Amino acid sequence: MSEQIAEQAIKDSYDVVIIGAGNGGLTAATTLAMNGAKVLLLEQHNLPGGFATSFVRGRFEFETSLHELDEYGPESNQGAVKRLFEKRYNLDIDMVRVPEAYRLIITDPENKVDVTMPFGVETFLDKLEREVPGCRESVQKFFDIAREIRDAFSYFMKTRGKPDQKVLFKEYTNFLKTAPYTTQEVEDVLGIPKKAQDILNAYWCYMGLPTNRVTFTLFSMMIFTYLDFGGYIPTNRSHGYTTALDAKIREFGGRIEYNTKVEKILVENGKIIGIETSKGDKIKTNNVISNASPTLVYNRLIHPKSEVPEIAIKEVNARVHGLAGFVVYLGLDASAEDLGLKEYSYFIMGGNSEILYESWSKLETPKGQATVCLNNAIPNCSPPGTSILFITTLFKPEVWYDVKPEDYVNLKNKIAKELIEQFENATGVSLKEHIEEIEIATPVTFARFTKTYNGGIYGYEMEPWDSIIARFMSMEADKHIEGLEFAGGYGRRGHGYNSSIGSGNVAALYTIAKLKKEGVIE
Ligand SMILES: Cc1cc2nc3c(=O)[nH]c(=O)nc-3n(C[C@H](O)[C@H](O)[C@H](O)COP(=O)(O)OP(=O)(O)OC[C@H]3O[C@@H](n4cnc5c(N)ncnc54)[C@H](O)[C@@H]3O)c2cc1C
Repeated sequence: MSEQIAEQAIKDSYDVVIIGAGNGGLTAATTLAMNGAKVLLLEQHNLPGGFATSFVRGRFEFETSLHELDEYGPESNQGAVKRLFEKRYNLDIDMVRVPEAYRLIITDPENKVDVTMPFGVETFLDKLEREVPGCRESVQKFFDIAREIRDAFSYFMKTRGKPDQKVLFKEYTNFLKTAPYTTQEVEDVLGIPKKAQDILNAYWCYMGLPTNRVTFTLFSMMIFTYLDFGGYIPTNRSHGYTTALDAKIREFGGRIEYNTKVEKILVENGKIIGIETSKGDKIKTNNVISNASPTLVYNRLIHPKSEVPEIAIKEVNARVHGLAGFVVYLGLDASAEDLGLKEYSYFIMGGNSEILYESWSKLETPKGQATVCLNNAIPNCSPPGTSILFITTLFKPEVWYDVKPEDYVNLKNKIAKELIEQFENATGVSLKEHIEEIEIATPVTFARFTKTYNGGIYGYEMEPWDSIIARFMSMEADKHIEGLEFAGGYGRRGHGYNSSIGSGNVAALYTIAKLKKEGVIE
């Protein structure tokens, strides 16, 4: 493959080079190739997907990361990802809906909760009212505002980040009113009772910030979308659809090279002029879409260094890197039914969001986990009489700096054991004696496979000053080098499957507009 690229690189130039075949890179390449651009996608690993993949141990094929896609939806209520994959790309992928929104178990003795919440905003409200009588009206207001926020973002997209102020003031008043506040602040003002807040906020850990720091805009829109569309997963793991995207890119005439790392993005007078790979191949292009983070691009890849704009360095330095992942993957020698695993999605929390976030800053077993039993969505995902369970928790990435190589294995085994016990104690399900296969991924593992900075899986933290509205409003201002776009979890909409899939498509649309203006494509 290396010779193949070396041979052609000299004579070839591309309309666009995409760095990285994660969710964002794959959709960027698909949209561009579909629109007639000459595209080269370069991935340092030997397969597509980045975090969105799978791996095999013994009799089990494990999903690496996805718990659920919350912008997919059924035929009757199609989310953005479904529309992109099925209607625009014509991808043939098999998806299933997960059975429930989540089971939340709060183990704090002062504040115990054990409840399984359904999908559908109305059904969710009914169940919440039964759990916390009298909360309905306040939570209904929460969802009404969330719906308005979602509509406001559709309007932002339509106007390419340049909304008409008059329309905003007239039609999206609550969106504007709540924009500067955190989830906690708005829920308190709406008068949502504390227990109802705990149940409604279970999904907060997927934002990676406690409810007193994550903006209401982002959180409310996410939980509303999730309940409205339902959660969906690919039957053949994430690898099923990422390989389908690989095939689509080729079908549209795009070229993909694996095992090829981009070492340099060549820039002259503030414009992209090409890239250089780890094999020393130079490829001409005036457009790069990077699925690698701005931190990596501005600190390591732009060449020469004198071409890195000062503002870009200030921007990446101001941002805070989000949380890193820690996962225990279990292949069990008994069925979910025999083990008593009834739900697909479990949130187990030892306290409120501040306590959990604080526990992620220490090199010890975190006080919470988000765990999935895959068989409860895809019954035949493992051989008959077996099941797959994966336990996910988080850490501040810098916490793992202090781990010495000689302590690494013992530490990850200890944390994995204690997370398994945390699950057993909270649910009463015995796992330990049924473990046939076990794999443990730490922040070091994620950094090794995807080259993400310190194993971060959550992009940049979406603090109120750097949250989704601020990022959308500066859609044009954050472009620092002509021809350079970003796609993926470090982008405007933040981390996660939907955001990174959508961001690749948006980066491609910007690049297509540029290519059309320059007369490169029609
Ligand atoms: C354990 C875990 C659980 C998660 N659960 C969920 C969930 O349930 N729902 C959800 O929405 N999100 C979840 N996420 C987050 C989600 O997986 C990510 O936000 C998303 O997949 C990131 O996609 P991306 O486009 O940023 O690409 P990435 O996955 O970061 O991929 C980037 C790609 O670029 C390649 N690359 C980097 N540098 C170079 C270079 N110089 N040259 C060539 N290639 C390069 C990498 O190898 C990689 O393939 C989870 C993540 C993890 C790890």
